[in-house]
Amino acid sequence: MESYKKIDALGRIVIPSDFRERLNISENERVLLSCDGDKIIISTLKHNCKLCGKTENLSKKFPLCKECIKQIFAEAII
Ligand SMILES: [Zn+2]
Repeated sequence: MESYKKIDALGRIVIPSDFRERLNISENERVLLSCDGDKIIISTLKHNCKLCGKTENLSKKFPLCKECIKQIFAEAII
């Protein structure tokens, strides 16, 4: 997912509704802002899969859902 946004006079941007729905972000929810090189990263404080964003069926060892882990291993074998 990508979206180009304009920063307003107060430095604000709107996170598009399809992004918020995908990551299950609600009004007044806190998010974490961080910088990585020239990128600004907005992270939810929920545990979610870092590849697909799902919040259910997560691994306890990795920040990924079990479906993505299966897919990674399946591609590694091929
Ligand atoms: Zn996933």
